[in-house]
Amino acid sequence: MLHDDQVMRECFRHAAEIIKVATGASLALVTLIDRNHQHYRGEAGLAVRPIPRHNSLCEYAIRSGGVFVVEDTMLRPEVQECMLVQEAPHARFYAAVPIRLPDGEVVGALAALDPQPRRLEPRQVDALRHLGAMIENDLKLRTAAAVDPLTQLFNRRQTLERIHRQWQDTRAGEGLGAVMIDVDWFKQYNDAYGHPAGDACLRQVSALLREEAEKHQMVAGRVGGEEFALLVGAAQRPALGAVLESVRAGVERFAIAHRGSPYGRVTLSIGGSHTLRNGPCDRGYREAFVVADRALYRAKEAGRNRVWIE
Ligand code: GH3
Ligand code: MG
Ligand code: MG
Repeated sequence: MLHDDQVMRECFRHAAEIIKVATGASLALVTLIDRNHQHYRGEAGLAVRPIPRHNSLCEYAIRSGGVFVVEDTMLRPEVQECMLVQEAPHARFYAAVPIRLPDGEVVGALAALDPQPRRLEPRQVDALRHLGAMIENDLKLRTAAAVDPLTQLFNRRQTLERIHRQWQDTRAGEGLGAVMIDVDWFKQYNDAYGHPAGDACLRQVSALLREEAEKHQMVAGRVGGEEFALLVGAAQRPALGAVLESVRAGVERFAIAHRGSPYGRVTLSIGGSHTLRNGPCDRGYREAFVVADRALYRAKEAGRNRVWIE
């Protein structure tokens, strides 16, 4: 997962400028790919729309696994169909280095291109390689600073930052659910099965939260030992309830044995609050999470293993 944000875009923009100077090419860009398309970041002298991956020069760079150079696209029939060759800027020269996340997943490429053929000296190829490595290193540091190592969820600071940003980016009239989740009787779980088993349990719960977060495009993070926060885009309260119920039931279905719980398995208590952005009840995300915390307390008091929305 790539943490695409303002700071990262800045980093890409600088990288694109440096690569232009290093190669002498007139255009440079960082392309980010998703399953079907490539997108552009840090354009230096180039504005292009997302391109289908099968039509992208970047795809060749990714497949090459290292620095990929085409000195003249006219002499390379296999890249003739690529959109940046076929259409403006009608690239004749293309040089790129793939960019990987710490887990090895390729997220895009740093590229230089030009409408004229060009030759690259070995030291220019080196510059491309070093710059690519620098970006990868930056990604590594940024991932380490944002992600909780045990659960691979966003850590507390990153979660709060993302919630704040998403709250601000949500348009007036759209609904948001602020959600707090706590594992039930978790102290007893550790006491009964040991801390390593407790860690494994937290990892399993977190994997489900990550999956749900991807499915529902929500922010999910670990904000305490066995406590998680979500920000869910949900038009109405019932829609929020349905998402949260599926999270609760999902963990119950894991059927992780817990002899310290009257349910006999690991369960979650979930508290939520629903807000319409800029509506009469929108007092900001902090207040929404205070209400969610209160709802969580009510869920605990009512017997745990339930969703409570205030
Ligand atoms: P409740 O149902 O009221 O939430 O009870 P609880 O036992 O879950 O609540 P409490 O806050 O008393 O206990 C939380 C426990 O979570 C205590 C702590 O040992 C455990 N915990 C916190 N972080 C971790 C962790 O990273 N790994 C493990 N294994 N346990 C942790
Ligand atoms: Mg707790
Ligand atoms: Mg607990």
